Amino acid sequence: MKPILNAFKTYEIAPRGWMKKQLEIQAESLSGQLYKVWRDVRDSKWIGGDAEGWERVPYWLDGFIPLAFLLRDEEKIAVAKKYVDAILAGQAEDGWICPCTEEERSSYDMWGLILLTKVLVVWHGCTDDERIEPALRRALRNFYDRMKAGTTVVDRWAKARWFETFFALTWLEAQGHEDWIGELAQMLHDGGADYLTFEEKWKVPLNKWTFETHVVNAAMAVKGESAGAELRGLKNDAIPEKIWRTLMKYNGMAAGIFTGDECLSGLSPVQGCELCAVVELMFSMETLGQVFGKTAWFDRLEKVAFNAFPATISEDMWSHQYVQLSNQIACERFWSNPPFRTNGKEANIFGLEPNFGCCTANFNQGWPKLVLSAFARSARGIASCVFVPAEVNTEVNGVPVRVVLDTYYPYRDKLTYTVCAQSPVTFDLDIRVPAFAQTMTVDGEAVAIKRGFYTVHREWSGESRVEVELTFAPKLVNRPHDLRTAEYGPLVFSLKVENKKRMLEYVRNGVDRTFPYCDWELSPVSEWQYGFADGALEVVEHELQDSAFAEDAPMLTLRANLARVNWGYRDGFDNVCAKTPKSRKAISEPISVELVPYGCAKLRMTEMPMVRK
Ligand SMILES: [Zn+2]
Repeated sequence: MKPILNAFKTYEIAPRGWMKKQLEIQAESLSGQLYKVWRDVRDSKWIGGDAEGWERVPYWLDGFIPLAFLLRDEEKIAVAKKYVDAILAGQAEDGWICPCTEEERSSYDMWGLILLTKVLVVWHGCTDDERIEPALRRALRNFYDRMKAGTTVVDRWAKARWFETFFALTWLEAQGHEDWIGELAQMLHDGGADYLTFEEKWKVPLNKWTFETHVVNAAMAVKGESAGAELRGLKNDAIPEKIWRTLMKYNGMAAGIFTGDECLSGLSPVQGCELCAVVELMFSMETLGQVFGKTAWFDRLEKVAFNAFPATISEDMWSHQYVQLSNQIACERFWSNPPFRTNGKEANIFGLEPNFGCCTANFNQGWPKLVLSAFARSARGIASCVFVPAEVNTEVNGVPVRVVLDTYYPYRDKLTYTVCAQSPVTFDLDIRVPAFAQTMTVDGEAVAIKRGFYTVHREWSGESRVEVELTFAPKLVNRPHDLRTAEYGPLVFSLKVENKKRMLEYVRNGVDRTFPYCDWELSPVSEWQYGFADGALEVVEHELQDSAFAEDAPMLTLRANLARVNWGYRDGFDNVCAKTPKSRKAISEPISVELVPYGCAKLRMTEMPMVRK
C-alpha cells in the first residue's frame, strides 16, 4: 500500500517554542559536539580515520543531520556535509561504500551499509542532493550482486535488521523502477529474521543474550514487517499490532516502552530498557503512524517521547543512561553482579558511553525525528500528528501555505493553529484525536473521542486560527504485580527521589571522560518507600518554562496522598529496590506529595502499591 500520510521535507518543517529550545539544548551538548570529543565519530574509518567504521557514524548522522537542518545551523550543516562528502568519496568503482579492505568485505556485517542507506535518504530529505540517487543505486546494486553471487551473506545484525534497508529501497523505486530493487527486497525478506516466529521467546525472559530477544531489534521490528509496505504489497498493520501487543503484554513498562537489559526482561519495574530501543521504538511508531495513517501509533509515540526518552538523558543532554528503570532509586556502578540480565555494571549510570557506545551515537535521532513527524501531508491537506510546537511551510494545490502549532502540550491542554494561505485555497486540516483525552473541542465545538483525525475542511484565506481544547482526567492505572501508576494525558508521573550527583572523570581505552562529557552517579537523598494511600489525584499547574523537562521546575504535577511502607531492597543490593514491596501495610499517616512527570525525575518510584491501612 502507498503510505496514507507522507512526510514533509525537512526544510518544510521548523520547531517552535519548547521543542525548539529542546533542539537547541541538544545542539549545544553531546549531539552537537560528538564529532569533536568522541573518537568513534571524530576519527571514524567512514571519513578516512582509523576508529569504528560500522554503525556509529551512521547512527550519529541519522540524528545530527536533521538536527542541523531543523535549526538552520549553517556551521553544523557544514559539518554534516563534510561527513556525507567523505562517505560518498569513499565509494568504490563497483558501488561498495563501507570502509573496509577488499579482504574484509565478505565478513563485513552489512548492518553498517543498511543503516547508512537510511541516513543517505535522510540527507536527501534535507538537501535534495543529486549525488544521493546514483550513490544509493550503486551501493544497493552492489549489495544485490554480492548476495546473488554468495560473496556477501546477510547474517548477524544485518539479518536481524534487514527491513531497515526498505527506506532506501522504497525511495529508490520511487525515483525510477529497476527489477533488481524488488528482487533485493524479496531476498532480504526471505533471508532476514522472521519476528513472527519469535513470539514464544518474548514471553519469558531468557537470562541469556540472543538476537531474537534483543531489545533494540524488537523496537525496530515493531515496524519491521511494514517497512516497505508499498514494495511488499501489505494491506494493513495487523502484523505490527500483533508484535507490539505481545512485546507489551509480557515486557511492558509504565512509560510506554518494554524492558530489555539488554534482551527482553519481563514486567518487573526494576529491569531496564536500553536508550537505543527508546529512540528506535519512537521511529517505528512515527513510520507506522504515517504508513497506515492510524492515530493509535501517534498516541503511543507521545507516551514514549514525553516520558521514557527525556527520563534517560540528563537535562543538559550531555549524559545519558544505557538502561532506565521504572522504579529507579539510584544510578550507581555495581561492584559485583549487576541486576541486569546481560548488561554490565555501569549500564544504569549517566555518562558518555555507559556500558556500550551505541546509544551515544543513536540517541541523537529522538527529538529531530519527533519534530519531523509533527505534521504530514494527508490525502486532502495537512495532518497534525504529534502535538509539539512546530510549523510547516509548504504548498497546497500550488498555493504557499503555512500551518503553525503553538502549544505547551503536554503540560497544558490547548492547541492553537495559525493557518496562513497566500491566496484562497481549500484543503483539510486533519487534527489527531488523542484516544486518551476525555473531551476535545475545536473552535468550541465538541468532537467525539474516537481514534482518528478530526477534519477542519475550509477555504483558507489570509491568516486564520483554529483553537483546540483538550481535557484529560488524572488516573491511577493498573500495573503488573498489583502496582499502580499515575497518568494524565500522555504523561506518566513518578514520586521524585531527590538525588546527589557524583562526577566521574577518567580515561579508559583511550576514551576521555572530562566535564561536561563525563560520567555521573546519582544517589538517593530522600525517602522512596511509599504506596498510594487512596486514589485521589489533583492536577497542579506550575509556571511555564523554556526547558520542558527541567528536574527542578516541572510545569505540571499531580498531588497525591502517599503513605510509607516497608518496601525493602532487592536481595543482595542496597541501591535497587525490591520488585514489589515486602509489605503493603501503611506505617505512616498519609502525606500529600506532588508527583512529577516521569521525564523530569532521574531517580523515581513510578509503580507503587495501594497501601493497606
Ligand atoms: Zn544502545
